[in-house]
Amino acid sequence: MRRLKSLKLKNKRVLVRVDFNVPLDKRGNITDDKRIKASLPTIRYILAKKPKQLILMSHLGRPKGKPNPKLKMNPVAKRLQKLLKKKVTKLDNCIDIKIPKDKIILLENLRFHKEEKKNNKVFAKKLASYADIYINDAFGTSHRAHASVEAITNYLPSAAGFLLQKEIEIMGKALKSPKKPFIAIMGGVKVSDKINAINNLLKKVDALLIGGAMMFTFYKASGIETGKSLVEKDKLKLAKSLLKKSKKKLMLPTDTLAASKFDKKARTKIVPINSIPKNMLGVDIGPETIAIYKEIISKAKTIIWNGPMGVFEIKKFAKGTDEIAKALAKNKKAVTIVGGGDTAAAIEKLKLEKKLTHVSTGGGASLEFLEGKKLPAIKALEQNYKKQSY
Ligand code: AMP
Repeated sequence: MRRLKSLKLKNKRVLVRVDFNVPLDKRGNITDDKRIKASLPTIRYILAKKPKQLILMSHLGRPKGKPNPKLKMNPVAKRLQKLLKKKVTKLDNCIDIKIPKDKIILLENLRFHKEEKKNNKVFAKKLASYADIYINDAFGTSHRAHASVEAITNYLPSAAGFLLQKEIEIMGKALKSPKKPFIAIMGGVKVSDKINAINNLLKKVDALLIGGAMMFTFYKASGIETGKSLVEKDKLKLAKSLLKKSKKKLMLPTDTLAASKFDKKARTKIVPINSIPKNMLGVDIGPETIAIYKEIISKAKTIIWNGPMGVFEIKKFAKGTDEIAKALAKNKKAVTIVGGGDTAAAIEKLKLEKKLTHVSTGGGASLEFLEGKKLPAIKALEQNYKKQSY
């Protein structure tokens, strides 16, 4: 696809789709501006090239296709202005508006219009009419065929911003030509959410370490009693066939932290995996598993991690996730990649981001990337490069 650095931007109107979908508290304050900061390199680079105008656009939250005063981009504009130390003009809509001549513009929430999610061409064309060049820097949205990341590439010369480029290059290289040993660590709740990624990764990795509630579905499928642990009953067959075809690459925990309930006041007990008491549930991987996984992690040269090892939101149940995070950070020889969402939150909590090669800004997008899928927005950029000269 076309790269930002190959474009002449001087005196051009540049339209950039960013992922400024930041979390807000009840009073509408931004609680984490990581996503705004992640696109600053792209924004600063464009501004340094003296464009006629920089127009930014994003979605925020889930307004379901209609205006919602709580999800206006105003706090985002304010924060961006503070970070850039430059005036940012925030508009009250994203289409059917006259764009003022100001240097930096932020359009209103794209998802106030149902056309955005419907990948509507008329909507995309209206957005495109504001500019001469389109840049996609919204990796977190690139697994969706939405108007501002997909249809829009039909109307403007299009390129990838630095964040998008970095995300796909690092993950793409790890999947295509990983330094060996290559391991993946998968956790989280459901086998069904991660099955496609597990299937794709099993073709490439030397070992795939399982954690999270997912492990109990695998154990149940092998006939082991899992007490009150979360099990996906309709996925037992699938788990069984995965275990069979994984040729021992799929590694399961040997012990677990069992708890009387999902609560910080719960009674807890470390048990071997085949001895979970009937009235208890597994909430984390146990110390023996942590030690085994740490040893494997220390020897790996490429590591991809997606999904927590336990109910890490409760401190008592976070040890497995914390120890795996620390083990990744400790392995300085390996390329270490962490998928977004909960796993990124666990890394952030421990302030380990800088010790890893890459923490993805996109949960869903990074998971689909690991599935080996071509993300719709990335496909659109590639097609634009082939079709539209610049
Ligand atoms: P996912 O979105 O599938 O990556 O799942 C993340 C969630 O998995 C987190 O909210 C964790 O609390 C949860 N989780 C991890 N391990 C367990 C477990 N043993 N039982 C229940 N939930 C778990």
